[in-house]
Amino acid sequence: MQYSLTEEQEMLKKTMKKLATEKIAPRAGEIDEKEEFPRDIYELLLNQKVLALPFPEEYGGLGVDLLTYCLVVEELSKVGLTALPFLTSYSGALDCFMAGGTPEQEKEYLSRLLAGEFFAFVLTEPSAGSDVASMQSKAVLKGNKYVLNGTKCFISNADSADILMVYAKTDPKAGIRGISTFIVEKGTPGFYISRKEKMMGARAFQSCEVVFDNCVISKENLLGTEEGKGLTVILKFLHKGRIIVAAAAVGLAQGALDHAIGYAKERVQFGRPIAQFQGIQFMLADLAAQLEAARQLTYRAATLARDGSKEGMKLACMAKYLATGICMKITTDAVQIFGASGYMRDYPLERMMRDAKCLQILEGTTQIQQAGIARVLLDL
Ligand SMILES: Cc1cc2nc3c(=O)[nH]c(=O)nc-3n(C[C@H](O)[C@H](O)[C@H](O)COP(=O)(O)OP(=O)(O)OC[C@H]3O[C@@H](n4cnc5c(N)ncnc54)[C@H](O)[C@@H]3O)c2cc1C
Repeated sequence: MQYSLTEEQEMLKKTMKKLATEKIAPRAGEIDEKEEFPRDIYELLLNQKVLALPFPEEYGGLGVDLLTYCLVVEELSKVGLTALPFLTSYSGALDCFMAGGTPEQEKEYLSRLLAGEFFAFVLTEPSAGSDVASMQSKAVLKGNKYVLNGTKCFISNADSADILMVYAKTDPKAGIRGISTFIVEKGTPGFYISRKEKMMGARAFQSCEVVFDNCVISKENLLGTEEGKGLTVILKFLHKGRIIVAAAAVGLAQGALDHAIGYAKERVQFGRPIAQFQGIQFMLADLAAQLEAARQLTYRAATLARDGSKEGMKLACMAKYLATGICMKITTDAVQIFGASGYMRDYPLERMMRDAKCLQILEGTTQIQQAGIARVLLDL
């Protein structure tokens, strides 16, 4: 077990900190306000090869391990969640293609992503959120084509995506084992965006409702060669995705805590900086200690993710559960330390608090993480 970061990891953190403070932070408020797809931030991350970091070297990536990628996510999230949709989309795409794709699909699509095509993970449905097995979308094989029908919701940046990874049942009687994965390209007839949501925060995510209405795709667009392998792909995506979301929560929480510490040292009431009141000191100490615990758990989960064990899965659920919970608490308490100023849009705290909430919902809610932990504890 290693207890310190390598020199390369420390250097990467510094580079990411500079990118976050100089390029992302100045745009974060505007992106939140306008609710636009931040193409400039996407292109920045692509051109700076941040999105390529976890990709294998043979496809033009840099092949960093999950812990290193989590450090990147953490640093970039200190200024808000503006970069997160791109970081999760690219690492998620990588996991899906590696978990279920043929070598040809892996090569084609991973190269296309690194060349600048964007990806959406299309799983959730109006009646199937946490309960993936109740999915209604269906794909029927007719000759050498699949006909896809169904409605999906809350899909991040689906309207900007070039490649969509869509889950549908090919064998409805088989329940969760009857789910298959399909690659749908932008512009395919029968696929359209039916609605764009207005979100509380994390607005770089651009949530869309997506419809497949007799959408015809080639048989080769089945991910892999066999039907019914969707669950394997989903589990792989969620396992790493949860750790990455935990890292984002650690970063966002640290960013909010840093603001609160700075403000507490400057804001004078009753003749002295509020940081000199024990009520504020204990609050900051409590938050900092809990945050460090969540950070170490996240790093541990990232280190163990490679072995795919039950212990690894439990740690991933624990990391997401703990880190997103403390992130919600820290961003809320940071607003409290700022008083009325924290409630105003002039400071980034209220945005960070709104951003934090989504981390307790996407990639499995808090309760689903608790259920995942209990399943391993109780051997269910
Ligand atoms: C910002 C954002 C981005 C997203 N991006 C995507 C995306 O790109 N692609 C995609 O497919 N989806 C995406 N989602 C959807 C997300 O994955 C779902 O919202 C999530 O899985 C929860 O599903 P639900 O919202 O339907 O809630 P439900 O499953 O309806 O849950 C409602 C409540 O019931 C609780 N609950 C449910 N089951 C249990 C249980 N067994 N025990 C205890 N409590 C339970 C939940 O914890 C929650 O509190 C995104 C969501 C958000 C907020």
